[in-house]
Order: sequence, then C-alpha cells, then structure tokens
Amino acid sequence: MNPRKINFNPGPGALPLSVLEKARDQLVSYHNTGMSILEMSHRSKEFEEILDGAKRRLRSLLKISEQYDILFLQGGATHQFVMIPLNFASTDRPGAYIITGAWAKKAYKEAKILSRGVVAASTESEKFVRIPKEEEIRVPPNAAYLHITSNNTIFGTQYESFPQTSSVPLIADMSSDIMSREIDVNRFGLIYAGAQKNLGPAGVTVVIVRKDLIQRIDETISTPLRYQTHAAENSLYNTPPTFSIYMVDLYLEWLESYGGVSAMEHTNNNKAQIIYALLDRFPEFYRGTVDEDHRSRMNITFRLPSEELEALFLAESKKSGFVGLKGHRSVGGIRVSLYNAITRNETTKLAEFMKVFCEQHG
Ligand SMILES: *Cc1c(COP(=O)(O)O)cnc(C)c1O
Repeated sequence: MNPRKINFNPGPGALPLSVLEKARDQLVSYHNTGMSILEMSHRSKEFEEILDGAKRRLRSLLKISEQYDILFLQGGATHQFVMIPLNFASTDRPGAYIITGAWAKKAYKEAKILSRGVVAASTESEKFVRIPKEEEIRVPPNAAYLHITSNNTIFGTQYESFPQTSSVPLIADMSSDIMSREIDVNRFGLIYAGAQKNLGPAGVTVVIVRKDLIQRIDETISTPLRYQTHAAENSLYNTPPTFSIYMVDLYLEWLESYGGVSAMEHTNNNKAQIIYALLDRFPEFYRGTVDEDHRSRMNITFRLPSEELEALFLAESKKSGFVGLKGHRSVGGIRVSLYNAITRNETTKLAEFMKVFCEQHG
C-alpha cells in the first residue's frame, strides 16, 4: 500500500517523491562528507556548490539574463511586502498596487504603513472574481513600480498576460505560480516567490531583481533589509536557510529532468483542463467561483450546492486518500491546488472521484 497521500495542499504543498527520497538518502552524510547539510557551514565548498547550482538552474530554467540578480532570502514572501516599498518607493514616488486578492492586499498594506503605496486597480468590490482589465489600471506617472500578484492562491484567479507599464518597473509576487509556466523575465523589475508552493520547502524566498534597480546603496535602510546587501554578498550576508536552498536545488534538478518549464506548463494546462472540464460539465453542482477568463491553473476554487455537501465532499475525499482540498478559511468551499508536483494521473484520480461524488449526490 502507498503510504503517501495525494496532496492538494495549498502551501506548503506537495513535493516530488524523488526529491524527498534523494534528500532522505543524503540526509545523514552528504556526498560522503560524514556530515548532513543541516550541520555544515554555509561557507563550505559543499554548500557553495549547492547555492551556485540552485542559481544556475533557476537562471537556465527561467532564461534569466545576466542583467538580473538571483537572491535567496528569509522571512517568506511576506517579508518582501516590506522590503519592496522600503527599497524602491518613497512618499513622493509611491508603489502602485493592483489588488486582486488577500495577498495583494497584504502587500499593499505594508506599503501603506510606510505611506508609500497607492491603489492602481482593485476587484475587491466584486469579491475578487477577476483580474482588472488593462484600461481599468491607473498607474500614477510618479509611481516607483507597479505591484501585481500573478496568481491569487486563495481566490483562484491568475493573470493570463501581464499589464503593460512602459518605464515603470513591474513587480510580481509569483509565490504560487513561479515555474508553472513560461514567463518573459525581461518584462519585470523584480519577481519574488516563497518556495513552499512551486519551488521547494518553506524557509526560503527567491528574488529575481534587475541589477540596475538595486545598485544605489541607501544608508537610510537597515543593512539586512537592503537588496544591495544580499546581492553584493551572494545571499551569504548572514546564514541563509541552507537546507531549504538545498531542497530548492533538488527540486529544480527534478524540473530539469522533467523537461523544464515548457514541459511543466503543458502538463499544468492539461491538469487544470481536467478539473475545469468537470466544473463545466456539472455547473449546477460544482460552482466555479471566478470568471472563466481568469481561471487559475494552480488553484481551482468552487462551491457545492450546500455547506453540508462540501463537508461531505471533504470527508469522502479524505477516505479516498486525497488531502488539502478545503478552501481557505476566509472564502470556504473547495480548492484544488495543482502545483507542479501533482501529476496528471493524480489529477485524473481526483476528477474520477468528483464525477462519482456528483452522480451520487447531485
Ligand atoms: C502563500 C503566499 C504568500 C505568503 O507567503 P509566506 O512565505 O507565507 O510569507 C504570499 N503571496 C502569495 C501569492 C502566496 O500564495
């Protein structure tokens, strides 16, 4: 019997079994060093190779040019909500925010605390069922950047294409869809992502930042809060989350062997299509909660006809070996998170369960 569940957790999310097994095999003695990565200096040759490897793989998988630095930071994506306005905005040159969900709101909140944030567009009055249209977005001419959340993990929407910003740098929180699809990094000034959804375990946040944006050393910002500090020290200004970075490296190695981001995107489109096809087939029973044009391929959200049926759905799905399908506590319902580590086969199993459940209870 397979002791592993089919894990649809929204974050931290499932990791590929082969990645976990490799980490297990190397845990006690890494490459015959007689030590675990957990016990090694972050300045050791072994760890520097891991760090450089993770960077190199990221650069090649996302086709990141040498104009960008890649940083591994702590504090989660949430910490970036603070670092971004601190490093780039001021009261006279605020950051502009598109509010498309709970995480976007939290990002904006931190800029507002510093009096450095303005709203460029929001779909909150429509309960975040969609992404704003290009013509609804108002970026003030003095804006320091435009901040977006590329995939809205809680509400289940995703940008299909990204807003045009001309000379204003575009900053994106890609915590829940980085590495899930091909992107043109050159369109962005900064991309950040907590690793625990689509890149590895919790504890490390990847930041991809255009070098020219962080060249200036601003002495008014505390040293560990400056991007410059971490870029100049190759993310070794202080002890980085070594084990998490090691896991990211293993994860990226797995992604390379999978065929890279384009192969993964193909599979992800397929997986999302399998679940959305069911929603479209039984719309009275599986009631999608967002506009069709902005459906997320990572987090699929829907309601059932009653909360009783939702509770039954969760209980029955658990018995079948599925976990993590409960919607976020703020919105309720069901959420199917289809991160990279979820296979097409696992998605099909869930779809079969959903079909039978609907036939029995619809
Ligand atoms: C999960 C998530 C976050 C929060 O990440 P932390 O690492 O917990 O700070 C932020 N933004 C998005 C889009 C997320 O999905």
